[in-house]
Amino acid sequence: MALGQQSISPPRTSTFGATHAGHNVRQHNLVSLLRILHLDGPTSRARLTQLTGLNRSTIGGLVSELRELGLAVENGREVTPGPGRPSPIVEPRPEGAIALAVELTVDCLATAVIGFGGQILAERRLVRPRRSVAPEEAIEEVARQIGAMRRSWEGAPLAGVGVAVAGLTNRLTGTVDFGPNLGWRDVPLSELLSEALSDVGVPEQVGIHLANEADLGALAEARRGAGRDVDDLVYVSGEVGIGVGVMAGGQPLLGAAGYAAEAGHMLVNPDGEQCCCGAYGCWETEAGERALLRRAGIEPSLVGGEAIAAVLARAADGDPVATAAIEATGRWLGLGFGNLVNLFNPRLVVLGGLYHRLFEPLQPFICAAFSERALRVSADMVELVVSELGDEALLIGAAELALTRLFEDPVGVVRCTVTA
Ligand SMILES: [Zn+2]
Repeated sequence: MALGQQSISPPRTSTFGATHAGHNVRQHNLVSLLRILHLDGPTSRARLTQLTGLNRSTIGGLVSELRELGLAVENGREVTPGPGRPSPIVEPRPEGAIALAVELTVDCLATAVIGFGGQILAERRLVRPRRSVAPEEAIEEVARQIGAMRRSWEGAPLAGVGVAVAGLTNRLTGTVDFGPNLGWRDVPLSELLSEALSDVGVPEQVGIHLANEADLGALAEARRGAGRDVDDLVYVSGEVGIGVGVMAGGQPLLGAAGYAAEAGHMLVNPDGEQCCCGAYGCWETEAGERALLRRAGIEPSLVGGEAIAAVLARAADGDPVATAAIEATGRWLGLGFGNLVNLFNPRLVVLGGLYHRLFEPLQPFICAAFSERALRVSADMVELVVSELGDEALLIGAAELALTRLFEDPVGVVRCTVTA
């Protein structure tokens, strides 16, 4: 049974993949408190009592245990109207359990140290010139960045390393099986990363958890962003390709190996261009960055944010080619959203990456094509919004994945302290 199903918190707190829920009632209750503090932040003891249904003395005992484990502190008291003593406020202690988060996408290689409670304690980001990068080169840079942030994590318990990859990652084997836009195939990333990180002081027994970048974007938005309290959402991010992650009933939709919802490669136009996956007419060949730039007549040397800014500037100056490119791209995007909404019946579609910046000019064309394509009953209950977490979404999602172990075995994680 997934941990979230036994938790007192709503399903949004469920783990990424099925896990067990602890050894006994006390551990289960301890984990319930951890989840509340992790997602909701500082919470009074009185509120913890209300949320869990546990009595005051049980909450007092559990809070003491969390303090002894270094996972919580009590600072200040809640001031409430009426009689009774003010209730102490319990706060998550970020240094109590640390996740190392990694983002490996075509344009960017980023890492972060993220603490229990979701606080980003340190971050490094390398925006690269657009080109394929060898896995060894990417891994070396990740190790360099994590080594450079050593002061932020050394001496703290490490829950795990979470890695968001722009490609099809196999969660059973820890490999990147196919990353067409990165130019990667069958890369044993978990193994290679574990070796490289051990050279900068991360113990080899610390788990490395890989997932598709859009799956982690969806998880991050569901837990900490635009989709908080929403159980069913679809996250769509544009970079070179289009990534899609789905949360269904509060759980990530992963498929047998983790390849599910590769909607960037769903067929939308049988007469379309050839995609990097080898097929023709995939959604990303019609609604992705390359399609927009091709239609707008942007010179091939210009890519990424610079190229998008050029299209927007030309459209703002009344250039009909750029304007038509925005309209066509918006319509293909809207058609794809219609398909996704028909398939998954989400409450929310969250746009991240490239589409975060393009949402305003694309919106009218997205909406027109979407309403032609989506079933009315599904369309009526969905909202289209931009990502709240923006550029941080993938690192935050990677940290949530890495922190999974904390909610399975808090004592075990706390005992795994990295020392110099
Ligand atoms: Zn494709």
